[in-house]
Amino acid sequence: MILGKQGAGKGTQCARLARHYVVPHISTGDMLRAAARSQTEFGRKAKEFMDAGELVPDEVMIGLVRERLDYEDTSARGFILDGFPRTDGQAEALAGILGEDRALDLAIDIELPTEAALERLASRRVCNVCGAIYSTAQPPHLNWTCDFCGGEVVQREDDQPEAIKRRLDLYEEQTAPLIAWYLERDHLVTVDGMGHPDDVFRRLVRAIDGRRLHR
Ligand code: AMP
Repeated sequence: MILGKQGAGKGTQCARLARHYVVPHISTGDMLRAAARSQTEFGRKAKEFMDAGELVPDEVMIGLVRERLDYEDTSARGFILDGFPRTDGQAEALAGILGEDRALDLAIDIELPTEAALERLASRRVCNVCGAIYSTAQPPHLNWTCDFCGGEVVQREDDQPEAIKRRLDLYEEQTAPLIAWYLERDHLVTVDGMGHPDDVFRRLVRAIDGRRLHR
């Protein structure tokens, strides 16, 4: 499970880790954005929270993740959880959902100074169909059209300055305390999120493999 403030590279790195370890990448942000695109009642409500930079209420998120973790693909080789838990309540619920036999292997905190996170968020662009992540410095090859699915590559509504500020404040207030929560349970590994994505990826793989060998 991956922690780290917005802009730390969670989405990019989790997608790569999922391919590397051949496990499902469960991103609550991607699930909510897919719901928002489908224009269901649930999706519309979720979009309001997201666009404002607010957290979607715990009961809703816990239900969503509980259901997803019930799918068979999560029990074969495990899974990567990206963007959940983000509050105390979610962390406790997750421990209950997983129980003792499927207890979490590892919580990874990707560390990044706030100024660097702000810079990355301001330049981030995403495919509004498949969620692939780009930046103004590394755009898709052709005309803001996604290299993977041909979708339109845009700036996320919640990557606008007001929403970014709110999301980072909420991170400090609600999500950062989870680092201590997982440290106390001996699940936490911290990885430096600065530098090229390839370097961060190598650090993550080293941390994960190192930990698995010691279990
Ligand atoms: P992310 O792509 O992980 O930054 O998530 C985008 C937005 O989805 C967040 O700013 C929240 O509004 C919402 N969201 C994603 N995961 C959660 C969660 N675990 N709890 C509450 N809201 C969430």
